[in-house]
Amino acid sequence: MPTTTPAETLGRAADFFRTHAERVAAIGIASFGPIDLDERSPTFGWVTTTPKPGWARANVVGAFRALSVPVAFDTDVNGAALGEHRWGAGHGVDPFVYVTVGTGIGGGAIVNGRPLHGLVHPEMGHLAIPRDPADPFAGACPYHGDCLEGLASAVALRARWGAAPQTLPAGHEAWPLQARYLALGVVAIAAVLSPRRVALGGGVMRAAGLLERVRHEVEARLAGYVRAPELVAPALGERAGVLGGLALAQSALARGSVQ
Ligand code: ZN
Repeated sequence: MPTTTPAETLGRAADFFRTHAERVAAIGIASFGPIDLDERSPTFGWVTTTPKPGWARANVVGAFRALSVPVAFDTDVNGAALGEHRWGAGHGVDPFVYVTVGTGIGGGAIVNGRPLHGLVHPEMGHLAIPRDPADPFAGACPYHGDCLEGLASAVALRARWGAAPQTLPAGHEAWPLQARYLALGVVAIAAVLSPRRVALGGGVMRAAGLLERVRHEVEARLAGYVRAPELVAPALGERAGVLGGLALAQSALARGSVQ
């Protein structure tokens, strides 16, 4: 079902589960954010400050409470990371990071078998990275301008080059710059979390040769100081999001709490 207003979208989702209530044991929600994951917070389960119209302060978990089953709530990218860790490109790998490069950039991390939370949750797309001196583009992030997402998301590529990324040929000057920016992001993530493996997915990563370019740039940036994390494509493809939700539901069931 399309994402429209919170009331309509969450209402339709809750209705769907209500009509199948006898078969619903737990619910896993992998949501765009930022979201409130702190179970002690009065706004737990809410989307907080998203620029998506109408969704700021939307109570997502609250829409499903009437079902009285355990609910797990996490970011879309933590969900995808958990799905890839359980069934895909991150199976048996810990720490494992999943990064999506699409309209926005986001990353989720599995550390000690669990999605990494914190004061809020990781926001890897908003890492500050140095803008290339030869790049005059000021950046597309409404909050930070030239953060990683502001420089290397599909929205940024379209704004910088005046064309959709999938229409830019493999030999276009966009790609070496894109690989450098993504490598700066991966190196920053590696410096903090030391993941053994990073899966890079999302629409922009479908560009031919981009993953290989990022691998070379990461090796060059790390300059032999520490080992580079293994960079791979996700294995679950378009299903990473929904399988992430399923993995979260399994976690909720194992924990057994009704939130
Ligand atoms: Zn930003």
